[in-house]
Amino acid sequence: ELSKLLHKDVSEVIKKLLFLGIMANINQEVDLDTIQLIADEYKVEVDLKLPVEEDEFEIEEMDDEKDLQERPAVVTIMGHVDHGKTTLLDAIRKTKVTEGEAGGITQHIGAYQVERNDKKVTFLDTPGHEAFTTMRARGSKITDITILVVAADDGVMPQTIEAINHAKAAEVPIIVAVNKIDKPEANPDKIKQELTEYQLVPEEWGGDTIFVNVSAKQGEGLDELLEMILLVSEVEELKANPDKRARGTVIEAELDKGRGPVARVLVQQGTLEIGNVFVAGVCFGRVRAMVNDKGRRIKVAGPSTPVELTGLTEVPQAGDPFIVFEEEKKAKAIADKRATEVRQQEMNVNNRITLDDLFKHIQEGEVKELPVIIKADVQGSAEALRGSLEKINVEGVKVKIIHTGAGAITESDVILASASNAIIIGFNVRPDQTAIATAEQEQVDVRLHRIIYNAIEEIESAMKGMLDPEF
Ligand code: GDP
Repeated sequence: ELSKLLHKDVSEVIKKLLFLGIMANINQEVDLDTIQLIADEYKVEVDLKLPVEEDEFEIEEMDDEKDLQERPAVVTIMGHVDHGKTTLLDAIRKTKVTEGEAGGITQHIGAYQVERNDKKVTFLDTPGHEAFTTMRARGSKITDITILVVAADDGVMPQTIEAINHAKAAEVPIIVAVNKIDKPEANPDKIKQELTEYQLVPEEWGGDTIFVNVSAKQGEGLDELLEMILLVSEVEELKANPDKRARGTVIEAELDKGRGPVARVLVQQGTLEIGNVFVAGVCFGRVRAMVNDKGRRIKVAGPSTPVELTGLTEVPQAGDPFIVFEEEKKAKAIADKRATEVRQQEMNVNNRITLDDLFKHIQEGEVKELPVIIKADVQGSAEALRGSLEKINVEGVKVKIIHTGAGAITESDVILASASNAIIIGFNVRPDQTAIATAEQEQVDVRLHRIIYNAIEEIESAMKGMLDPEF
């Protein structure tokens, strides 16, 4: 495209790119800076035109209260590794999906629905908080309820705490599933006791967190768990308007050899129909065929329904917003515009909070609290640091600790920081390789310290605008 605009041979442009150290192929997207450089070489002026004025992507009509109807809850299962997330997902699916559907083959489409008392519940079937937080980092909120799985023969573990913090940061209600109660050494009360430290207090102890004892392996307690999900759904008053053009989120996408780009989408509002024209992230498409989680072809999909669809021109990314448009021309223009914007954003100097520009944000009144993640060599140090940081108060601006943990700074910490616009403090620990790469990519500020006092002083100085410039 660039070579066409420049009236040059593709190979010539690629050669120029190689000289700039960019190993480009013919389909490669080049960023604006690079385009500028190449254009300069040919003495051509670059004029950037955006095809659409207002971004209809952001605009969402408000629904009339009377148009809203109850919709199924969308549930994510989180918890420590080996505590039984996958087994639980499988067990719920097996007992409830195939029931009454003789020979029903389930199809993996990133989420599935089960029914209880004539009400549906949608489960996202990638367990773990990475998927959850990656979506949130990309600006999409799809989870209504989190099931926190804790093994009754084990206890609260690092990823249990991470999961709690992820759910809290996203303000998603938590139901605790105490799993593996079939085991002789199971001790559900110990789990309850441990979780009170994280403000998850069972009702019988005066709190408001729902606990359900289950055995994913033996299929025990699943009905009760579903009941509780329905109860929380009712309290949350989950509603959507099914009578409008669909909006949703891409939960998975891939290039299928036979069918081309395939997207698995959770419809969140409106109703999606065959033939609908849509934009998913920066991709344009028209729904050719839809398949539900039972492997059946369907023609329409309402709120909270997961579907697998074909008819895309490219493969979108997980977490991409999915929006149906009336006119094809408009949808195409918006997809183009978004593609341009995304490229620009990638080049933009970050708008993330870093300690170096914190003071500016505070002065401009944009920042009232500084979200911080603390990782330390031992939990004791992390807690000590938390205590001190929480006491800092600079003209009404406070530090908000969203997660603490013992151990190296991991990619998951960085993703959480990115989603919450937080900075990370490492005390006597370092980031691992993937965390370094992700922090660079997501432009998350990571500060490493060996002396608690220095860590506190750095934050305090940054809040007062007295940070020494870093060289
Ligand atoms: P995940 O890593 O959280 O997805 O955990 P898995 O679902 O893979 O389960 C880890 C192990 O625990 C597997 O060997 C399961 O068979 C076992 N497991 C899961 N749920 C139960 C349960 O309710 N009772 C018992 N006894 N074992 C379970």
